[in-house]
Amino acid sequence: MGKNRSRFLPITLYETRENMPIEISDKTIKREFIERLAKLSGQDVYKCFQCGTCAGACPMSGHMDSVPRKVMRMAQLGMEERVGETRTCWTCASCHTCTVNCPRGIDIARVMEAIRLLTLRKNVNLVEPSKLPAETVKELPQIALVSCFRKLTS
Ligand code: SF4
Ligand code: SF4
Repeated sequence: MGKNRSRFLPITLYETRENMPIEISDKTIKREFIERLAKLSGQDVYKCFQCGTCAGACPMSGHMDSVPRKVMRMAQLGMEERVGETRTCWTCASCHTCTVNCPRGIDIARVMEAIRLLTLRKNVNLVEPSKLPAETVKELPQIALVSCFRKLTS
């Protein structure tokens, strides 16, 4: 197994690129990523017509650096790197509000889960268990730690 890279820690140092121009070219479109995402999520991101309903309905969008609508667009364009850099899939609470409201019938929550899995499969951890302060580990309910490690570590 490769060495874990906790490039997202500490979370406060996460660098958002929300306002930077996006370059789209043959080099940025990763068709393999689009195929893997489709296979893992069972969803066709090309059905998305960018209505923004998911972003408006998402209870976590205020905490995301890119709203679900934007992540869907990045996914359509095969922007693997940019998708992997956003905090969106990690912030997603898997509440399925977006899914039940999408007029195109896309299960966006499953797309978010697939993005999480594809990132974790690169051996990237959002949380590094060994670096959690002892006080935090002591104070947090065990179930919170277990669910945190299940969702956020590779
Ligand atoms: S609600 Fe569905 S169609 Fe609308 S932007 Fe979100 S994913 Fe795309
Ligand atoms: S499943 Fe995730 S992206 Fe969709 S509404 Fe809930 S928190 Fe937002």
